[in-house]
Amino acid sequence: MTAKIIDGKAFAAGLRERIAEHVARLKSEHGITPGLAVIIVGHDPASQVYVNNKARQTKEVGMNSFKYELPEDVSEDEVLALIEELNNRDDVNGILCQLPVPKHIDENKIINALSPAKDVDCFSPENVGKVAIGLPGPVPCTPLGSLMLLRDELGDLSGKNAVVIGRSNLVGKPMGALLLRDSATVTIAHSRTQDLPAICAAADIIVAAVGRPEMVKGDWIKPGATVIDVGINRVNAPEKGEGKTKLVGDVEYSEAAKVAGAITPVPGGVGPMTIACLLANTVTTACLANGLTPPS
Ligand code: NDP
Repeated sequence: MTAKIIDGKAFAAGLRERIAEHVARLKSEHGITPGLAVIIVGHDPASQVYVNNKARQTKEVGMNSFKYELPEDVSEDEVLALIEELNNRDDVNGILCQLPVPKHIDENKIINALSPAKDVDCFSPENVGKVAIGLPGPVPCTPLGSLMLLRDELGDLSGKNAVVIGRSNLVGKPMGALLLRDSATVTIAHSRTQDLPAICAAADIIVAAVGRPEMVKGDWIKPGATVIDVGINRVNAPEKGEGKTKLVGDVEYSEAAKVAGAITPVPGGVGPMTIACLLANTVTTACLANGLTPPS
């Protein structure tokens, strides 16, 4: 058996088209153009690439993009003052501060300063709580993208045995909450979990969010299961030449693809969904700020 490869890149492109249609309707029917503000502190090249991608895709779906590039030595107070200004602007519906920030700035203070109504990364305790009890609001982007891929692949997730490997606040915990909301039977595994292969063997759905290259082995997977590989790990690739590297997920892809029913590749699976879901969250917060029902 060879697993179906879940094409996250194509799904994300389709999602961005649907977001663009929604943005066009918000403009024509309500005179609202959602806006996303991105703050970047310092000159980390990887962060620059992420921020530029976010800004480009924001504009491509017809939303306003506001980019604030602050110098490495900007004071914490200046960043907090900018966030306060953006919190109070009607044309800004989403604010994110690209992490990590330089060491002299307290990440928690930044997260706490963001208005929960504009916290499109869904870091605030208020928004995390809303996800847990099923109230409308932003949803953590990577778990939301993973859930969309699962629903698209499997339809109703009700009653499925789902194992989430990893319990980070960013991925594992919200992923578990979202699967539970969809009535899956959820197990969240972590570094203290005993006999992970046996737990995986009973899973209809595996979401791997560990950060350990190819840790989940092909022979752990139940035949026909759906595997979502969130992991992004850079490893040496001597087969590509001296000093070369490549990206791999948390799942041993070549073996898992022989057993699973469907699987996300790395790259090209969950990764492209994350920014698309950030845009979806900005539409959600724009709708909620204007008393409109967000798209489901
Ligand atoms: P964290 O390091 O915050 O969390 C890793 C989790 O894995 C922890 O809960 C840890 O358990 C658990 N873990 C570690 N070792 C084992 C083990 N041997 N067996 C079972 N569980 C284990 O990582 P993140 O959640 O932030 O990210 C996970 C991966 O997803 C990374 O590769 C990251 O790069 C990727 N990622 C990808 C995104 C995308 O857009 N596709 C976005 C965000 C992340 P414990 O809590 O006990 O320590």
